[in-house]
Amino acid sequence: MILPQYDGRCGWYEVLNDVSVFPALEGNVNVDTVVVGGGFVGCAAARRLAENQPDGSFLLIEALKVGQGASGRNSGFVIDQPHKRDLESNDNELKRKLLSLNCTAIDYLETQIDRYSIDCQWSHAGKYQAAVGARGQKFLDHYEQLLKGFGEQYQKLSRQELQSIFGTDFYSAAIFTPGGTLMQPAALMRGLADNMPENVRIAEHTAVTRITRTGDGFVLETDQACIKCRQVVLGTNIFTAELGFMRDRILPVMTFASMTKPLTDDQLERYGGQLDWGITPADHAGTTLRMTQDRRIIVRNSYRYAHDYNTPGELLPGVRQRHQQAFDARYPQLKDVKFEYTWGGASSLSGNFETYFGEIEPGIFLSCCDQSVGAARGTISGMMLADMACGKKTQLLADMIEVSGAPSKLPPKPLLRVGVPLRMAAARFASRSEV
Ligand SMILES: Cc1cc2nc3c(=O)[nH]c(=O)nc-3n(C[C@H](O)[C@H](O)[C@H](O)COP(=O)(O)OP(=O)(O)OC[C@H]3O[C@@H](n4cnc5c(N)ncnc54)[C@H](O)[C@@H]3O)c2cc1C
Repeated sequence: MILPQYDGRCGWYEVLNDVSVFPALEGNVNVDTVVVGGGFVGCAAARRLAENQPDGSFLLIEALKVGQGASGRNSGFVIDQPHKRDLESNDNELKRKLLSLNCTAIDYLETQIDRYSIDCQWSHAGKYQAAVGARGQKFLDHYEQLLKGFGEQYQKLSRQELQSIFGTDFYSAAIFTPGGTLMQPAALMRGLADNMPENVRIAEHTAVTRITRTGDGFVLETDQACIKCRQVVLGTNIFTAELGFMRDRILPVMTFASMTKPLTDDQLERYGGQLDWGITPADHAGTTLRMTQDRRIIVRNSYRYAHDYNTPGELLPGVRQRHQQAFDARYPQLKDVKFEYTWGGASSLSGNFETYFGEIEPGIFLSCCDQSVGAARGTISGMMLADMACGKKTQLLADMIEVSGAPSKLPPKPLLRVGVPLRMAAARFASRSEV
């Protein structure tokens, strides 16, 4: 069985101060519901369960520390818009439902950030989708048509306008959408964990190794504990298959990010742009770029088929070199700025771009295959799994069920290990001018 591992390299997590401790679980424990996985799905599910049933008892179990999984390793965009594949659908009603679900997730996160004063650089900075050359421009034109067709608000920006924001003339054009937010993902996840309702107990460094159905519920095993419960919520992302669910349906894809130290005053002057923005690439195989509120620049690009789930350390020097090339091409005036951290993280995709949400077996609730936009999608999934587990019937839950689907069966792993890297290499080659 492959379990999550943390390699101490994720910049967002490593720069945190005074990380709280939730002791590992030991002995025999009885609770109403166990939530496995402390990412966006698990944290939202645990909170919502506790809100729905203030007298219930809930346990959130995380194999690592909350914030060390994908939810603390991402690029920090909480995106309101439907994913590109969904945006391409002709069904405007479906897109409106997705937008409304994502916005509900953003509001839910923001309510907690405000209530508990979570210091995570949360900002209504919107999102820039940017093109470098002719190939990117084609994608951008297509994106503009999709936004127009959906009646969404957006703004087009020229190279000159972008230069004053980003401090580089590297981008030829961009489309700005105002709806999404930016954040420091590991800080957000720690804040969510630190402020759980009282009837949620958190256990970190506790990996569930087996789930067994008993007469009236389930027994979950970890190496030091045995937990009895009535219901289970799985927010285990790519590791879900290791617990026996959604085998052959989850495509684990890893992408990589690097982060600089905060720019010095002198470097900031040479940079010449603004703080607190985020660019996603018009061509999805391109580069994501962030400038944080605390003056750090983050570069994300490169993909690999993560058959082994965790990040092989030997890949990181090569990745960092690629990130440095992307950085130097954008910021020749900052040749002295090098990356302090480089890390990988894996998301669950599906072969047919469908996301799973629901009660997979009586008493076991899960969502997965969020297509790597899990900050909003994972949050709303966790909230709605909790409502489903509590028997709450709402329009939001009905919408959630409607926008979800059945991830298709994938080819056998040996074929994926050959086919997926080949497809990725072809995409990398086709998109080389946009990286
Ligand atoms: C580099 C990168 C950039 C990204 N950028 C963005 C972005 O900007 N915006 C966006 O929306 N999405 C982004 N994503 C995707 C996003 O991070 C994921 O979609 C999201 O975090 C998934 O949330 P989750 O709760 O489903 O899973 P996770 O965050 O992976 O949480 C699952 C948790 O379960 C734990 N776990 C697994 N198995 C067990 C077990 N047996 N016992 C106990 N615990 C277990 C894991 O340790 C993990 O912490 C990015 C991803 C990466 C890697």
